[in-house]
Amino acid sequence: MTETKHFMHPDKDRFLGDENPFEAMMSRFDYAAGLLDLDAGLYKVLRNPEKQIIIAVPVLMDSGDIEVFTGYRVLYNTSRGPAKGGIRFDLGVTLEEVKALAAWMTWKCAVVKIPFGGSKGGVICDPLTMSAGELERLTRRYTAGIIETLGPDSDVPAPDVNTNEQVMAWIMDTYSMHHRHTVTAVVTGKPVEMGGSAGRREATGRGCMIVTKRALRHLGLPLEGARIVVQGFGNVGSIAAELLQNEGATIVGASDVSGAVHSAKGLDVKDLIAWREEHRYVSGYPKADTITNEELLALECDVLVPAALENVITARNADGIKAKVIVEGANGPTAAGADEILDRKGVFVVPDILANAGGVTVSYFEWVQDRGGYFWAEDVVNSRLTEIMENSFDNVLAVAKKYNVNMRIAAYTLAIDRVAAVHRLRGLYA
Ligand code: NAD
Repeated sequence: MTETKHFMHPDKDRFLGDENPFEAMMSRFDYAAGLLDLDAGLYKVLRNPEKQIIIAVPVLMDSGDIEVFTGYRVLYNTSRGPAKGGIRFDLGVTLEEVKALAAWMTWKCAVVKIPFGGSKGGVICDPLTMSAGELERLTRRYTAGIIETLGPDSDVPAPDVNTNEQVMAWIMDTYSMHHRHTVTAVVTGKPVEMGGSAGRREATGRGCMIVTKRALRHLGLPLEGARIVVQGFGNVGSIAAELLQNEGATIVGASDVSGAVHSAKGLDVKDLIAWREEHRYVSGYPKADTITNEELLALECDVLVPAALENVITARNADGIKAKVIVEGANGPTAAGADEILDRKGVFVVPDILANAGGVTVSYFEWVQDRGGYFWAEDVVNSRLTEIMENSFDNVLAVAKKYNVNMRIAAYTLAIDRVAAVHRLRGLYA
Protein backbone atom coordinates (compact mmCIF):
# COMPACT_ATOMS: atom_id res chain seq x y z
CA MET A 1 0.00 0.00 0.00
CA THR A 2 2.21 2.82 -1.21
CA GLU A 3 1.18 6.37 -0.53
CA THR A 4 -0.03 8.78 -3.17
CA LYS A 5 -2.02 11.42 -1.32
CA HIS A 6 -3.35 11.53 2.19
CA PHE A 7 -6.46 13.14 3.67
CA MET A 8 -7.23 13.64 7.35
CA HIS A 9 -10.73 13.25 8.72
CA PRO A 10 -12.37 16.63 8.19
CA ASP A 11 -14.15 16.44 11.53
CA LYS A 12 -11.90 14.91 14.15
CA ASP A 13 -14.26 15.96 16.98
CA ARG A 14 -17.19 14.04 15.58
CA PHE A 15 -17.66 11.91 18.68
CA LEU A 16 -18.14 14.75 21.15
CA GLY A 17 -21.33 15.49 23.08
CA ASP A 18 -24.57 13.85 21.99
CA GLU A 19 -22.79 12.32 19.00
CA ASN A 20 -20.82 9.89 21.13
CA PRO A 21 -21.63 6.67 19.20
CA PHE A 22 -22.16 4.57 22.33
CA GLU A 23 -24.64 7.12 23.70
CA ALA A 24 -26.32 7.25 20.28
CA MET A 25 -26.72 3.46 20.38
CA MET A 26 -27.95 3.59 23.99
CA SER A 27 -30.63 6.19 23.36
CA ARG A 28 -32.23 3.92 20.74
CA PHE A 29 -31.69 0.91 23.03
CA ASP A 30 -33.54 2.68 25.86
CA TYR A 31 -36.49 3.48 23.60
CA ALA A 32 -36.77 -0.13 22.42
CA ALA A 33 -36.27 -1.52 25.95
CA GLY A 34 -39.15 0.71 27.07
CA LEU A 35 -41.42 -0.66 24.33
CA LEU A 36 -40.56 -4.20 25.38
CA ASP A 37 -40.95 -3.37 29.06
CA LEU A 38 -37.59 -5.07 29.60
CA ASP A 39 -37.09 -6.07 33.22
CA ALA A 40 -34.60 -3.99 35.20
CA GLY A 41 -32.00 -6.73 35.69
CA LEU A 42 -31.77 -7.66 32.01
CA TYR A 43 -31.72 -4.00 31.10
CA LYS A 44 -28.57 -3.58 33.20
CA VAL A 45 -26.96 -6.71 31.73
CA LEU A 46 -27.60 -5.64 28.13
CA ARG A 47 -26.30 -2.09 28.69
CA ASN A 48 -22.84 -3.36 29.59
CA PRO A 49 -20.19 -4.88 27.31
CA GLU A 50 -19.05 -8.32 28.53
CA LYS A 51 -15.36 -7.66 27.95
CA GLN A 52 -13.19 -4.68 26.94
CA ILE A 53 -9.55 -5.21 26.02
CA ILE A 54 -7.04 -2.38 25.54
CA ILE A 55 -3.53 -3.25 24.39
CA ALA A 56 -0.32 -1.53 23.39
CA VAL A 57 0.80 -2.64 19.93
CA PRO A 58 4.53 -2.00 19.41
CA VAL A 59 5.59 -2.09 15.76
CA LEU A 60 9.01 -1.87 14.14
CA MET A 61 8.57 0.78 11.46
CA ASP A 62 10.47 0.76 8.16
CA SER A 63 12.55 3.68 9.44
CA GLY A 64 13.99 1.43 12.16
CA ASP A 65 12.06 3.28 14.89
CA ILE A 66 9.56 1.55 17.18
CA GLU A 67 6.05 3.02 17.21
CA VAL A 68 3.47 2.00 19.82
CA PHE A 69 -0.17 1.95 18.71
CA THR A 70 -3.29 1.42 20.86
CA GLY A 71 -5.57 -1.50 20.01
CA TYR A 72 -9.03 -2.42 21.30
CA ARG A 73 -11.26 -5.48 21.19
CA VAL A 74 -14.70 -5.34 22.80
CA LEU A 75 -17.00 -8.35 23.21
CA TYR A 76 -20.41 -6.86 23.80
CA ASN A 77 -22.65 -9.88 24.21
CA THR A 78 -22.15 -13.58 23.46
CA SER A 79 -25.43 -15.04 24.70
CA ARG A 80 -26.52 -16.08 21.18
CA GLY A 81 -23.17 -17.52 20.04
CA PRO A 82 -19.51 -16.67 19.36
CA ALA A 83 -18.72 -12.97 19.21
CA LYS A 84 -18.56 -11.64 15.65
CA GLY A 85 -17.24 -8.29 14.57
CA GLY A 86 -14.85 -6.48 12.28
CA ILE A 87 -11.52 -4.81 12.87
CA ARG A 88 -11.01 -1.17 11.95
CA PHE A 89 -7.68 0.58 11.38
CA ASP A 90 -8.27 4.31 11.61
CA LEU A 91 -7.06 7.47 13.34
CA GLY A 92 -10.60 8.14 14.61
CA VAL A 93 -10.87 4.84 16.56
CA THR A 94 -11.90 5.32 20.22
CA LEU A 95 -13.03 2.88 22.91
CA GLU A 96 -16.50 4.47 22.84
CA GLU A 97 -16.69 3.86 19.10
CA VAL A 98 -15.55 0.22 19.41
CA LYS A 99 -18.08 -0.37 22.22
CA ALA A 100 -20.88 1.04 20.06
CA LEU A 101 -19.81 -1.00 17.04
CA ALA A 102 -19.68 -4.18 19.18
CA ALA A 103 -23.19 -3.49 20.49
CA TRP A 104 -24.47 -2.87 16.94
CA MET A 105 -22.98 -6.22 15.89
CA THR A 106 -24.93 -7.90 18.71
CA TRP A 107 -28.23 -6.36 17.58
CA LYS A 108 -27.43 -6.90 13.89
CA CYS A 109 -26.78 -10.65 14.27
CA ALA A 110 -30.07 -10.91 16.17
CA VAL A 111 -31.99 -8.93 13.50
CA VAL A 112 -30.89 -11.36 10.77
CA LYS A 113 -31.16 -14.30 13.20
CA ILE A 114 -27.67 -15.72 12.78
CA PRO A 115 -26.17 -17.54 15.78
CA PHE A 116 -23.54 -14.99 16.80
CA GLY A 117 -23.00 -12.43 19.49
CA GLY A 118 -21.33 -9.09 18.81
CA SER A 119 -17.78 -7.77 19.07
CA LYS A 120 -15.56 -5.23 17.37
CA GLY A 121 -11.91 -4.24 17.29
CA GLY A 122 -9.82 -1.33 16.23
CA VAL A 123 -6.33 0.10 16.19
CA ILE A 124 -5.66 3.84 16.28
CA CYS A 125 -3.40 4.26 13.27
CA ASP A 126 -3.25 5.82 9.84
CA PRO A 127 -2.99 2.82 7.51
CA LEU A 128 -2.93 5.00 4.40
CA THR A 129 0.54 6.26 5.39
CA MET A 130 1.91 2.83 6.34
CA SER A 131 3.78 0.36 4.13
CA ALA A 132 2.51 -3.21 3.57
CA GLY A 133 5.28 -4.48 5.86
CA GLU A 134 4.32 -2.10 8.66
CA LEU A 135 0.65 -3.06 8.31
CA GLU A 136 1.51 -6.75 8.44
CA ARG A 137 3.59 -6.31 11.61
CA LEU A 138 0.83 -4.18 13.18
CA THR A 139 -1.82 -6.79 12.32
CA ARG A 140 0.20 -9.73 13.64
CA ARG A 141 1.14 -7.99 16.90
CA TYR A 142 -2.44 -6.83 17.45
CA THR A 143 -3.68 -10.39 16.79
CA ALA A 144 -1.13 -11.80 19.24
CA GLY A 145 -2.23 -9.21 21.81
CA ILE A 146 -5.88 -10.31 21.72
CA ILE A 147 -5.27 -13.99 20.95
CA GLU A 148 -6.92 -15.32 24.13
CA THR A 149 -10.29 -13.98 23.02
CA LEU A 150 -10.07 -15.15 19.40
CA GLY A 151 -11.31 -18.52 18.13
CA PRO A 152 -14.04 -20.03 15.94
CA ASP A 153 -16.13 -20.72 19.06
CA SER A 154 -15.35 -17.52 20.93
CA ASP A 155 -14.60 -14.45 18.79
CA VAL A 156 -14.35 -14.19 15.01
CA PRO A 157 -13.07 -10.96 13.35
CA ALA A 158 -13.83 -9.69 9.83
CA PRO A 159 -12.88 -6.68 7.67
CA ASP A 160 -14.07 -3.16 8.44
CA VAL A 161 -12.83 0.34 7.59
CA ASN A 162 -9.29 0.16 6.14
CA THR A 163 -8.90 -3.58 6.63
CA ASN A 164 -9.29 -6.11 3.84
CA GLU A 165 -8.80 -9.74 2.78
CA GLN A 166 -5.02 -9.47 3.13
CA VAL A 167 -5.33 -8.28 6.72
CA MET A 168 -7.69 -11.20 7.45
CA ALA A 169 -5.14 -13.61 5.92
CA TRP A 170 -2.45 -12.28 8.32
CA ILE A 171 -4.82 -12.69 11.28
CA MET A 172 -5.62 -16.26 10.26
CA ASP A 173 -1.94 -17.09 9.82
CA THR A 174 -0.88 -15.57 13.14
CA TYR A 175 -3.63 -17.39 15.03
CA SER A 176 -2.83 -20.66 13.22
CA MET A 177 0.90 -20.37 14.02
CA HIS A 178 0.08 -19.98 17.73
CA HIS A 179 -2.24 -22.99 17.64
CA ARG A 180 0.17 -25.12 15.56
CA HIS A 181 -2.46 -25.96 12.95
CA THR A 182 -4.46 -24.11 10.32
CA VAL A 183 -7.70 -22.64 11.68
CA THR A 184 -9.61 -21.04 8.82
CA ALA A 185 -12.82 -20.34 10.78
CA VAL A 186 -11.10 -17.93 13.19
CA VAL A 187 -11.71 -15.02 10.82
CA THR A 188 -14.06 -14.25 7.93
CA GLY A 189 -13.63 -12.06 4.87
CA LYS A 190 -10.52 -14.07 3.92
CA PRO A 191 -9.31 -14.54 0.37
CA VAL A 192 -11.36 -17.25 -1.37
CA GLU A 193 -8.16 -19.28 -2.01
CA MET A 194 -7.72 -19.87 1.74
CA GLY A 195 -11.22 -20.56 3.01
CA GLY A 196 -13.02 -17.34 2.20
CA SER A 197 -16.56 -17.46 0.86
CA ALA A 198 -17.59 -16.62 -2.66
CA GLY A 199 -19.60 -13.40 -2.51
CA ARG A 200 -18.25 -12.18 0.87
CA ARG A 201 -16.44 -9.17 -0.57
CA GLU A 202 -19.64 -7.95 -2.22
CA ALA A 203 -22.01 -9.10 0.55
CA THR A 204 -22.51 -5.85 2.47
CA GLY A 205 -23.08 -3.82 -0.69
CA ARG A 206 -25.33 -6.56 -2.06
CA GLY A 207 -27.36 -6.52 1.14
CA CYS A 208 -27.77 -2.74 0.80
CA MET A 209 -28.99 -3.23 -2.77
CA ILE A 210 -31.51 -5.89 -1.67
CA VAL A 211 -33.01 -3.76 1.12
CA THR A 212 -33.06 -0.66 -1.12
CA LYS A 213 -35.20 -2.61 -3.59
CA ARG A 214 -37.43 -3.82 -0.76
CA ALA A 215 -37.81 -0.31 0.70
CA LEU A 216 -38.68 1.26 -2.66
CA ARG A 217 -41.18 -1.50 -3.36
CA HIS A 218 -42.76 -0.94 0.08
CA LEU A 219 -43.05 2.80 -0.64
CA GLY A 220 -44.40 2.23 -4.15
CA LEU A 221 -41.39 3.93 -5.77
CA PRO A 222 -39.68 2.57 -8.91
CA LEU A 223 -36.06 1.41 -8.79
CA GLU A 224 -35.65 2.00 -12.50
CA GLY A 225 -34.19 5.48 -12.80
CA ALA A 226 -34.18 6.09 -9.02
CA ARG A 227 -31.51 8.71 -8.24
CA ILE A 228 -29.03 7.42 -5.72
CA VAL A 229 -26.24 9.16 -3.79
CA VAL A 230 -23.51 7.14 -2.10
CA GLN A 231 -21.32 8.65 0.60
CA GLY A 232 -18.12 6.59 1.09
CA PHE A 233 -16.79 4.80 -1.97
CA GLY A 234 -15.01 1.91 -0.26
CA ASN A 235 -15.99 -1.74 -0.06
CA VAL A 236 -19.61 -1.14 0.94
CA GLY A 237 -20.40 2.06 -0.96
CA SER A 238 -18.79 1.29 -4.31
CA ILE A 239 -20.29 -2.22 -4.50
CA ALA A 240 -23.75 -1.01 -3.44
CA ALA A 241 -23.50 1.68 -6.15
CA GLU A 242 -22.45 -0.80 -8.83
CA LEU A 243 -25.16 -3.35 -7.95
CA LEU A 244 -27.87 -0.66 -7.77
CA GLN A 245 -26.78 0.69 -11.14
CA ASN A 246 -26.98 -2.86 -12.56
CA GLU A 247 -30.59 -2.96 -11.29
CA GLY A 248 -31.49 0.17 -13.25
CA ALA A 249 -30.89 2.96 -10.72
CA THR A 250 -28.92 6.12 -11.57
CA ILE A 251 -26.00 6.97 -9.29
CA VAL A 252 -25.93 10.78 -9.25
CA GLY A 253 -23.27 11.33 -6.58
CA ALA A 254 -20.43 9.56 -4.79
CA SER A 255 -17.78 10.58 -2.31
CA ASP A 256 -14.89 9.44 -0.18
CA VAL A 257 -12.61 11.08 2.35
CA SER A 258 -10.97 13.10 -0.47
CA GLY A 259 -14.18 14.81 -1.66
CA ALA A 260 -17.30 14.22 -3.75
CA VAL A 261 -18.36 14.00 -7.39
CA HIS A 262 -21.78 14.66 -8.92
CA SER A 263 -23.42 14.00 -12.27
CA ALA A 264 -27.15 14.68 -12.73
CA LYS A 265 -27.28 12.33 -15.71
CA GLY A 266 -25.55 9.56 -13.77
CA LEU A 267 -22.03 8.35 -13.03
CA ASP A 268 -20.59 5.31 -14.75
CA VAL A 269 -19.82 3.40 -11.54
CA LYS A 270 -17.45 0.87 -13.14
CA ASP A 271 -15.45 3.73 -14.64
CA LEU A 272 -15.36 5.57 -11.28
CA ILE A 273 -14.14 2.38 -9.56
CA ALA A 274 -11.39 2.08 -12.19
CA TRP A 275 -10.43 5.72 -11.51
CA ARG A 276 -10.29 5.03 -7.76
CA GLU A 277 -8.17 1.91 -8.35
CA GLU A 278 -5.65 4.00 -10.23
CA HIS A 279 -5.74 7.23 -8.20
CA ARG A 280 -6.79 5.81 -4.80
CA TYR A 281 -9.56 8.43 -4.33
CA VAL A 282 -12.64 9.62 -6.29
CA SER A 283 -11.59 13.27 -6.24
CA GLY A 284 -10.26 14.55 -9.55
CA TYR A 285 -12.56 12.22 -11.53
CA PRO A 286 -12.84 14.13 -14.80
CA LYS A 287 -16.29 12.98 -16.02
CA ALA A 288 -18.29 14.61 -13.19
CA ASP A 289 -18.58 17.86 -11.25
CA THR A 290 -16.63 18.26 -8.04
CA ILE A 291 -18.69 19.12 -4.95
CA THR A 292 -18.07 18.99 -1.20
CA ASN A 293 -19.14 16.12 1.07
CA GLU A 294 -21.68 18.47 2.71
CA GLU A 295 -23.20 19.32 -0.69
CA LEU A 296 -23.34 15.63 -1.54
CA LEU A 297 -25.54 14.87 1.48
CA ALA A 298 -27.99 17.58 0.41
CA LEU A 299 -28.26 16.53 -3.26
CA GLU A 300 -31.68 16.05 -4.87
CA CYS A 301 -32.11 12.26 -4.92
CA ASP A 302 -34.43 9.39 -4.06
CA VAL A 303 -32.03 7.29 -1.98
CA LEU A 304 -29.02 8.31 0.09
CA VAL A 305 -26.61 5.54 1.06
CA PRO A 306 -24.20 6.75 3.76
CA ALA A 307 -21.40 4.15 3.61
CA ALA A 308 -18.46 5.87 5.33
CA LEU A 309 -18.35 6.53 9.07
CA GLU A 310 -20.51 7.50 12.06
CA ASN A 311 -22.36 10.76 12.62
CA VAL A 312 -22.51 12.18 9.13
CA ILE A 313 -26.23 12.91 9.41
CA THR A 314 -26.75 15.02 12.52
CA ALA A 315 -29.24 17.46 14.01
CA ARG A 316 -27.24 20.16 12.20
CA ASN A 317 -27.68 18.91 8.62
CA ALA A 318 -30.65 16.49 8.71
CA ASP A 319 -33.09 19.20 7.64
CA GLY A 320 -31.16 19.71 4.40
CA ILE A 321 -31.46 16.09 3.31
CA LYS A 322 -33.69 15.68 0.25
CA ALA A 323 -33.61 11.89 -0.10
CA LYS A 324 -36.89 10.02 0.42
CA VAL A 325 -35.05 6.93 1.63
CA ILE A 326 -31.79 6.50 3.58
CA VAL A 327 -30.11 3.09 3.48
CA GLU A 328 -27.41 2.99 6.14
CA GLY A 329 -24.50 1.09 4.63
CA ALA A 330 -22.22 2.46 7.38
CA ASN A 331 -22.60 1.72 11.07
CA GLY A 332 -24.05 4.63 13.00
CA PRO A 333 -24.13 7.24 10.21
CA THR A 334 -27.14 8.97 11.79
CA ALA A 335 -26.67 10.69 15.15
CA ALA A 336 -29.51 10.14 17.63
CA GLY A 337 -30.50 13.81 17.42
CA ALA A 338 -31.25 13.48 13.69
CA ASP A 339 -33.80 10.64 13.99
CA GLU A 340 -36.68 12.92 14.97
CA ILE A 341 -35.93 15.40 12.19
CA LEU A 342 -35.86 12.64 9.56
CA ASP A 343 -39.10 11.18 10.94
CA ARG A 344 -40.74 14.61 10.76
CA LYS A 345 -39.62 15.02 7.16
CA GLY A 346 -41.05 11.57 6.32
CA VAL A 347 -37.70 10.09 5.32
CA PHE A 348 -37.82 6.28 5.37
CA VAL A 349 -34.62 5.09 7.06
CA VAL A 350 -33.41 1.51 6.68
CA PRO A 351 -31.18 1.37 9.78
CA ASP A 352 -27.60 0.14 9.86
CA ILE A 353 -28.31 -2.99 11.90
CA LEU A 354 -30.57 -4.15 9.08
CA ALA A 355 -29.19 -2.41 5.97
CA ASN A 356 -25.55 -3.49 6.29
CA ALA A 357 -26.20 -6.94 7.78
CA GLY A 358 -25.41 -8.64 4.46
CA GLY A 359 -21.71 -8.65 5.39
CA VAL A 360 -22.08 -10.52 8.64
CA THR A 361 -24.63 -12.85 7.06
CA VAL A 362 -22.14 -14.03 4.45
CA SER A 363 -19.44 -14.06 7.16
CA TYR A 364 -21.70 -16.55 8.92
CA PHE A 365 -21.90 -18.55 5.67
CA GLU A 366 -18.09 -18.44 5.44
CA TRP A 367 -17.74 -19.71 9.04
CA VAL A 368 -20.22 -22.51 8.30
CA GLN A 369 -18.35 -23.47 5.11
CA ASP A 370 -14.95 -23.42 6.88
CA ARG A 371 -16.22 -25.63 9.68
CA GLY A 372 -17.88 -28.04 7.27
CA GLY A 373 -14.94 -27.98 4.85
CA TYR A 374 -17.43 -27.73 1.99
CA PHE A 375 -17.82 -24.63 -0.15
CA TRP A 376 -20.87 -23.23 -1.88
CA ALA A 377 -21.19 -21.74 -5.35
CA GLU A 378 -21.62 -17.94 -5.47
CA ASP A 379 -25.21 -18.15 -6.68
CA VAL A 380 -26.08 -20.31 -3.66
CA VAL A 381 -24.47 -17.73 -1.34
CA ASN A 382 -26.31 -14.88 -3.04
CA SER A 383 -29.72 -16.53 -3.04
CA ARG A 384 -29.42 -17.46 0.66
CA LEU A 385 -28.31 -13.91 1.41
CA THR A 386 -31.27 -12.49 -0.53
CA GLU A 387 -33.72 -14.65 1.37
CA ILE A 388 -32.33 -13.59 4.77
CA MET A 389 -32.21 -9.88 3.89
CA GLU A 390 -35.75 -9.84 2.46
CA ASN A 391 -37.19 -11.76 5.42
CA SER A 392 -35.34 -9.54 7.89
CA PHE A 393 -36.64 -6.39 6.18
CA ASP A 394 -40.19 -7.77 6.34
CA ASN A 395 -39.79 -8.80 10.00
CA VAL A 396 -38.55 -5.33 10.98
CA LEU A 397 -41.36 -3.70 9.01
CA ALA A 398 -43.91 -5.87 10.85
CA VAL A 399 -42.50 -4.73 14.23
CA ALA A 400 -42.58 -1.10 13.03
CA LYS A 401 -46.28 -1.48 12.24
CA LYS A 402 -47.04 -3.32 15.48
CA TYR A 403 -45.52 -0.62 17.72
CA ASN A 404 -46.08 2.30 15.33
CA VAL A 405 -42.38 3.22 15.37
CA ASN A 406 -39.75 3.88 12.72
CA MET A 407 -37.63 1.11 11.21
CA ARG A 408 -34.66 1.85 13.47
CA ILE A 409 -36.57 1.47 16.72
CA ALA A 410 -38.30 -1.58 15.22
CA ALA A 411 -34.95 -3.22 14.41
CA TYR A 412 -33.63 -2.56 17.94
CA THR A 413 -36.87 -3.87 19.43
CA LEU A 414 -36.73 -7.09 17.39
CA ALA A 415 -33.05 -7.60 18.24
CA ILE A 416 -33.26 -6.85 21.96
CA ASP A 417 -36.29 -9.12 22.27
CA ARG A 418 -34.34 -11.99 20.68
CA VAL A 419 -31.21 -11.45 22.80
CA ALA A 420 -33.28 -11.04 25.97
CA ALA A 421 -35.18 -14.27 25.24
CA VAL A 422 -31.91 -16.23 25.18
CA HIS A 423 -30.75 -14.60 28.42
CA ARG A 424 -33.98 -15.64 30.13
CA LEU A 425 -33.61 -19.23 28.89
CA ARG A 426 -29.97 -19.46 29.93
CA GLY A 427 -30.50 -17.80 33.30
CA LEU A 428 -27.83 -15.99 35.29
CA TYR A 429 -24.69 -17.96 36.12
CA ALA A 430 -23.80 -17.21 39.72
P1 NAD B 1 -13.66 1.08 3.46
O1 NAD B 1 -12.42 1.43 4.20
O2 NAD B 1 -13.59 0.09 2.36
O3 NAD B 1 -14.34 2.40 2.88
C1 NAD B 1 -14.63 3.54 3.66
C2 NAD B 1 -14.92 4.67 2.68
O4 NAD B 1 -15.37 5.81 3.40
C3 NAD B 1 -13.67 5.12 1.91
O5 NAD B 1 -14.05 5.40 0.59
C4 NAD B 1 -13.27 6.39 2.64
O6 NAD B 1 -12.51 7.27 1.83
C5 NAD B 1 -14.63 6.94 2.95
N1 NAD B 1 -14.62 7.98 3.98
C6 NAD B 1 -13.93 8.01 5.15
N2 NAD B 1 -14.16 9.18 5.78
C7 NAD B 1 -15.03 9.87 5.02
C8 NAD B 1 -15.64 11.15 5.14
N3 NAD B 1 -15.39 11.93 6.19
N4 NAD B 1 -16.48 11.55 4.15
C9 NAD B 1 -16.73 10.76 3.08
N5 NAD B 1 -16.18 9.55 2.91
C10 NAD B 1 -15.34 9.12 3.87
O7 NAD B 1 -14.70 0.61 4.59
P2 NAD B 1 -16.02 -0.25 4.41
O8 NAD B 1 -15.70 -1.66 4.78
O9 NAD B 1 -16.66 0.05 3.10
O10 NAD B 1 -16.91 0.33 5.61
C11 NAD B 1 -17.69 1.49 5.47
C12 NAD B 1 -18.77 1.49 6.53
O11 NAD B 1 -19.56 0.30 6.41
C13 NAD B 1 -18.26 1.47 7.97
O12 NAD B 1 -19.16 2.18 8.78
C14 NAD B 1 -18.29 0.01 8.34
O13 NAD B 1 -18.37 -0.20 9.74
C15 NAD B 1 -19.57 -0.40 7.64
N6 NAD B 1 -19.70 -1.83 7.38
C16 NAD B 1 -18.78 -2.50 6.66
C17 NAD B 1 -18.96 -3.86 6.42
C18 NAD B 1 -18.02 -4.65 5.56
O14 NAD B 1 -18.34 -5.81 5.27
N7 NAD B 1 -16.92 -4.11 5.09
C19 NAD B 1 -20.06 -4.52 6.96
C20 NAD B 1 -21.01 -3.80 7.69
C21 NAD B 1 -20.82 -2.45 7.89
